[in-house]
Amino acid sequence: MSYKGKINQYTCTVCGGVITTIDRDEGTTAFFVSCYATPECQGPMRSSMYQVDQSLVPDHEWYKPTGKIQNRALREHVRMGGLLIRPIRNDGKPKPPEPRPAENPPGGIDR
Ligand SMILES: [Zn+2]
Repeated sequence: MSYKGKINQYTCTVCGGVITTIDRDEGTTAFFVSCYATPECQGPMRSSMYQVDQSLVPDHEWYKPTGKIQNRALREHVRMGGLLIRPIRNDGKPKPPEPRPAENPPGGIDR
C-alpha cells in the first residue's frame, strides 16, 4: 500500500497543535513525531493515519533524503525505508535552510 501523495495530520497531545503532512516519496512515516506546531513544546504529535481531508494543504512533508546523511541512526532509519519530515512553504518547496538538525535518538524512528 502506497501513501505517496497522501495527506495526513499530526496532532500534539500536549499543546493541541496540528500539522498537515504529505508523503513525497515511498517509505514509512512515524506514528509519533515530536511537536512541530510549537517551537518550545516537547509533546508528541500523533498521526491521524491518513484519515483526514485529502484536499488539505500540507505544511510539512515526508521525504526521502538524497545525499549523505551524517547522523548514523538517521542514516539507518532511511536505509530501512523510513522517510524524514520537514516544514514546507505555501508553494510546496522546503523552507530554507534545513529547518531542523538531523537529530534522532539511537534506536528510535520517531522522526
Ligand atoms: Zn505541542
